[in-house]
Amino acid sequence: MIPALFVSHGAPTLPFDDIPARAFLQGLSATFPRPKGIVIATAHWETEGPQVAKVAVNGTLHDFHGFPQALYDLRYPAPGDAALSDRAAALTGASIDTSRGLDHGAWVPLLLMYPAHDIPVVQIAVQPHAGVAHHIALGRALAPLRDEGVLVMGSGSFVHNLRRLDRRGPDAPEPDWSKAFAGWMNKALLARDDDALIHYRERAPFAALAHPEEEHLLPLFIAYGAGGAATRLHDSHVYGSLRMDAYAFA
Ligand code: ZN
Repeated sequence: MIPALFVSHGAPTLPFDDIPARAFLQGLSATFPRPKGIVIATAHWETEGPQVAKVAVNGTLHDFHGFPQALYDLRYPAPGDAALSDRAAALTGASIDTSRGLDHGAWVPLLLMYPAHDIPVVQIAVQPHAGVAHHIALGRALAPLRDEGVLVMGSGSFVHNLRRLDRRGPDAPEPDWSKAFAGWMNKALLARDDDALIHYRERAPFAALAHPEEEHLLPLFIAYGAGGAATRLHDSHVYGSLRMDAYAFA
């Protein structure tokens, strides 16, 4: 079975950045069978209650400002899958959004993994005020789709504090607080310690520094809930603390 995946999408310029995380994503799809469809949760679609997109063809949202024109010229017109949207909504109790396109949290990693954009993609939202347990439950609800050959994935960032980026460059050294948080989180994920994860904001070192807001971490818990045993597939960082880690949940 295809593992559930969490990936970090980093800066919108990732398709043009020659960094280990890009090479990792470009090679990732060759490591498991081709999915029949992809259900992807993204940090950049925040809603009050669960929502699932249902579109014929996915639009491409350039939901960022001040980047090179080449980035705005990229498109990822993957087809939708109405039946898969309906099924994801039924399993999770989500409402349907018939106009939402793919934001860069979804299309940037998918462009690297499946550049031909020929696999149907269904985007789902995160609920930033609903916490970890809610997102683990969302993932559990989506798990039956995996038996049908669907890739369930979350896209966020393992550490995400834009005010603390080290602007000296992508190779800037990682600060200790980022290392400490990532180490704690990695251990809790590998142990599948639900209790620790649900209370990570109180228990993990520097949690509020690593994630001043939670939305970039919540897609991780959807992938975690959709799968089982965790494997860390990738770990790297850019601009000091922007961590690019990825996990598979078997
Ligand atoms: Zn992002």
